Amino acid sequence: MKLVQIWKDNRPALGIQTGGGIIDVEAEAARRGVSAPADMKQAIAAGSQGLARLAELAADAQCYTNAPLAPVVTGTDRIFCIGLNYRQHAKECGLPLPPAPVLFNKFSNALAAHGDCVRLMPDYKEYDYEAELVVVMGKPARDVSEAEALDYVFGYTCGNDLSTRDLQFARGNQWVLSKTFDGFAPVGPCLVPSRELDPNNLDISSVVNGETRQNSNTSDMIFNVQQIIADLSHHFTLQPGDLIFTGTPQGVMHGYPADKKNWLKPGDRVDVTIQGIGTLSNTFC
Ligand code: ZN
Repeated sequence: MKLVQIWKDNRPALGIQTGGGIIDVEAEAARRGVSAPADMKQAIAAGSQGLARLAELAADAQCYTNAPLAPVVTGTDRIFCIGLNYRQHAKECGLPLPPAPVLFNKFSNALAAHGDCVRLMPDYKEYDYEAELVVVMGKPARDVSEAEALDYVFGYTCGNDLSTRDLQFARGNQWVLSKTFDGFAPVGPCLVPSRELDPNNLDISSVVNGETRQNSNTSDMIFNVQQIIADLSHHFTLQPGDLIFTGTPQGVMHGYPADKKNWLKPGDRVDVTIQGIGTLSNTFC
């Protein structure tokens, strides 16, 4: 099942992406006289029972919508990101493998939806893409073991960890400031429930203006999803709706030789594709 959020009366509302279009969950539930989660946050709170109700709604649905997509998760201020988490990416950056997950964060102003145009400030020029598997937490997690970590995940989506390299490095190690500009955390297009995917063996790629730049598999992660959740939850409580960007594979522009660098600019388009989820597309303006 592929869950999405759509813009409905200026608020994010839940949808189900199917081969026949996007089901308007609220309208479909009203047609049948049943209750259903109104948005992704409510779907997360409803857990596996909510997913079962949504699967029932998706069968023989009649209410479809053409509304634009909203970010697949909203209503959270917590966007965690893991840096340098693919072996080949650490290599292209010329850095040693980190001994533990390297954590930084973005804020909710950075969320953007599939199809959104992300604004690039004229003050900087080294804008870079990073295709990433994004974990959406389902339950409060404190000190959970690797063996039980995936039970705390609600689902997975695609993310693009956009970065401003000339700010990230030229002014010192400005990881947060350079990566949390408005719209610099596109997520989507849909969320796939955790039980439907093995997060540690998914093809992941990015394509810029039709040219493949990153092409890898999540099995190249240094710390897999279970290890990341176990480590973070050992230090603080993860909350339902928390997003975790799990790092990017090799092929980002930062790793290209100086004479081959071609940073993102207005008019460009980036497509991030993850096996079993779909393609997150964004343009820049
Ligand atoms: Zn990243």
